[in-house]
Amino acid sequence: MIIIKCPYCGERDQSEFSNGGEAHVVRPNNPESLSDKDWGEYVFFRNNPKGIFYERWVHSHGCKKWFNAVRNTSTDEILKIYKLKEKRPEITEFKNCLKSPSGEPKVGSGNFTVKK
Ligand SMILES: [Zn+2]
Repeated sequence: MIIIKCPYCGERDQSEFSNGGEAHVVRPNNPESLSDKDWGEYVFFRNNPKGIFYERWVHSHGCKKWFNAVRNTSTDEILKIYKLKEKRPEITEFKNCLKSPSGEPKVGSGNFTVKK
């Protein structure tokens, strides 16, 4: 069970919320000028990191307001919650939060390391 602290209502069970996917995805200014490939990437492609992830949530069974959260996808720990009009926190603020429960590397299944 995950407890999420709505910035408007306080702590509630995760079942009261809906995840809205990646936060801070900016709609292109001139979508008609984009290629089909670029438009498709904007509409369908999202990051799916293991570790720190900025995402949108809505308190769908409460105040119905949207907000952003920073979550460690390895542990499901919510590291920070902030309102939409607040500034995105820097990722360096969470650099000490990247350990998974089993000590796995930041990328991969734990049995190997992906080189970029
Ligand atoms: Zn709320």
